[in-house]
Amino acid sequence: MSPISRRAFFTGTTRAALGMAATSNAWVLQGCGGSGTNWGSLAAQLDGQLLLPSNPLYPATGLSENTVSAAIRPAAIALCANARDVQTCVVWAQDNGMPLVAQSGAHSYGGYSTTRGLLISVRPINAVRFDPQNEIATIGSGMQLGTLYDTLFSQGFFVPAGRCTSVGIAGFVLGGGFGFETRRFGVTCDLMMETEIVTADGRLLVCNEAQNADLFWACRGGGGGNFGINTSFTMRALPIVATTYGKVVWSFDDVEAVWTELQTIAITAPDAMGMRNGIARSRTSVGASSTDTVSALFIYFGPEDEARDILAPALNAAPPTEITIATGSIADATGFVAEESSPNGFLAKSAYAEVPFPAAGISAILDLFSRWPASSRAGVFDLHTVGGVSNTISRTATAYVHRGAQACFEYEADWFDDATPQQIEESIAWVEALGDAVRPYFNGEAYQNFIDPTLIDWQQAYYAENFARLVEVKRTHDPGNVFHFPQSIPVEA
Ligand SMILES: Cc1cc2nc3c(=O)[nH]c(=O)nc-3n(C[C@H](O)[C@H](O)[C@H](O)COP(=O)(O)OP(=O)(O)OC[C@H]3O[C@@H](n4cnc5c(N)ncnc54)[C@H](O)[C@@H]3O)c2cc1C
Repeated sequence: MSPISRRAFFTGTTRAALGMAATSNAWVLQGCGGSGTNWGSLAAQLDGQLLLPSNPLYPATGLSENTVSAAIRPAAIALCANARDVQTCVVWAQDNGMPLVAQSGAHSYGGYSTTRGLLISVRPINAVRFDPQNEIATIGSGMQLGTLYDTLFSQGFFVPAGRCTSVGIAGFVLGGGFGFETRRFGVTCDLMMETEIVTADGRLLVCNEAQNADLFWACRGGGGGNFGINTSFTMRALPIVATTYGKVVWSFDDVEAVWTELQTIAITAPDAMGMRNGIARSRTSVGASSTDTVSALFIYFGPEDEARDILAPALNAAPPTEITIATGSIADATGFVAEESSPNGFLAKSAYAEVPFPAAGISAILDLFSRWPASSRAGVFDLHTVGGVSNTISRTATAYVHRGAQACFEYEADWFDDATPQQIEESIAWVEALGDAVRPYFNGEAYQNFIDPTLIDWQQAYYAENFARLVEVKRTHDPGNVFHFPQSIPVEA
């Protein structure tokens, strides 16, 4: 698809707020039962609640973080209280010709955890059972990362995960899951010991190295929404450790000198350093002047003097306008870097790299930032550190294939809630132009958790040599393709 047709596909006239979903998500437009649907028969079988549109709880339930799919609303939302409810929903939906989709934290970048059929929400399945003797946490699949952190911190442990507190554990860990701790402890799926999943035939399967090992492999990086609906994840928990953490911000006038150092630090730093370095522009209304920054956010698993030494080239490149460097436990550090998010419309793309950009690459980024559209709410280019311990695992040992990279870049534009199709188009065009400009410096892979509806060769970019095996697992466990969306693993390669 040409960039132009891709943009048209994404924005689509009055369906702008739906973005890609309105045009390509035929799966949500399939017959949804109509008035003859016997919802009562489903409700009667559930321990949890079934919300129909007339229920006062319905309007605020199941909304996607990316508002591109805001207009796609389910015929009903099942708030599953337990795994048995999920089994009931999966069987009932197929018996009644009702499309279904799983939802945990609703943070899919593509807005893929919604449907015009039955939305099966695992959100109420959110207990943590912690075994301190063996340092193992069994986590309900509806658990949000912030609550998971708090629950385990209070017992002196943690599971390394992501920054945004409202992301759901299910989508996060099924796609791999990285954060500030990845270099030191691996991607989150590397700590998974077992998961339980409801498959298309309605069975609840236990998956680990010994049982249903193929599904266990696929659930570590193969992506959410592909093989069934996971109801729990059993993870190795780690004792709380000491850290140095902080944030440094510089003036945008110094962006070139600072970014040159920041990207090199991030990519070459020891495994004990986890960073999110970013170039960002944002504004509060169309045409308003923007707030522009270059910044580093970090957690270092070591003493403050070592952290300062690692950061020195950037600190010396230009004087920071804001600097916080502190010491404390991983609980303090996680609280410091935590991100609260709220729904809005955006397109984000991702790419991995092994080496820092040459000067020409940095110039290309800055050139695009100088042409960021006046209608856009935010324009962001982030570098997330990956690699370290997660690169000691082979690319095929789990479905998460991105084991050689040192950085995962994320570049994004957000638009205003009342943006016109033209304004959305301008933001999307900017993201695509940025991607085109920096593509030579990436390794060709993209992150399945930053799922990107405009990515064409997504099978290779997300899964590379693991794609064929994922298709086999799909064919074995969901031959009828019950769990599907535009970028789901197909039953045929
Ligand atoms: C603000 C923000 C910050 C983020 N920060 C990070 C980060 O630091 N690190 C990182 O790695 N990622 C990050 N992400 C990406 C995030 O990991 C993915 O968007 C992830 O898929 C979200 O999971 P979810 O459960 O919240 O989303 P959902 O939209 O509920 O689900 C995502 C996908 O998984 C499927 N799914 C949901 N529940 C289940 C289930 N129980 N069983 C099987 N499939 C299921 C859905 O159908 C959908 O296809 C961030 C996303 C946002 C919006």
